[in-house]
Amino acid sequence: MKAAPVLVLCNHCTRPSCVRVCPTAATWKREKDGLVMMDMHRCIGCRYCIAACPYGARSFNWRDPRPYIKKDENGELPSNYPTRSKGVVEKCSFCEERVRFGRMPACVEAANRVPGGEGALTFGDLSKPDSEVRKILREKRTICRRISLGTGPNVYYIV
Ligand code: SF4
Ligand code: SF4
Repeated sequence: MKAAPVLVLCNHCTRPSCVRVCPTAATWKREKDGLVMMDMHRCIGCRYCIAACPYGARSFNWRDPRPYIKKDENGELPSNYPTRSKGVVEKCSFCEERVRFGRMPACVEAANRVPGGEGALTFGDLSKPDSEVRKILREKRTICRRISLGTGPNVYYIV
């Protein structure tokens, strides 16, 4: 048997259990593109969503993360990235703040920059039959995590 490390990010599920349990609608599935979003201002830190996610895709900020974020040349926090506070839940957003400007999520961009990493990660629109991700799904053998749970994960792994 062979084993390899894999990314275990949020699956932006079609039927996300995290969304169902959130009492404040701080997390929701965005209609226009299916991303499972977070509103840090609405999050009360109850952590129900952490318990409900069967993928361990969420984490809680026990400390203020801002002192640990790399500052720019002026000693300021990056203005193009919405920094979080203590007491809220974090998760992968597929870098929504980049995607909205037509850019790739940071992990996809970084993987493709590494020599030999081209194509290691692909991001795209599953609703379009002619998209690159749909093409890969047609041509390669892929799996999703814990599909039997019925959450409808949308992250696929080529095996
Ligand atoms: S992987 Fe977890 S956090 Fe992400 S949408 Fe699915 S249930 Fe929610
Ligand atoms: S921790 Fe925040 S996002 Fe999670 S269920 Fe509670 S209010 Fe909703």
